Amino acid sequence: MKIFKVCHACDRIIGEIELDDLTSQNSDPIMDIVGNVAYALCTNCLHEMETKPRIIYH
Ligand SMILES: [Zn+2]
Repeated sequence: MKIFKVCHACDRIIGEIELDDLTSQNSDPIMDIVGNVAYALCTNCLHEMETKPRIIYH
């Protein structure tokens, strides 16, 4: 069974993955599977998140 991998932030389709591969590897804790779509972050958004300064609450 193939599922789409979609970016959580920009809704861009990153690619297609085999659900069987995903469950056997289980290597991506960011991934959130809803129905036949796996939400993750594309490289762009991941990079943006890493470079943006964090908001610190005092
Ligand atoms: Zn993205």
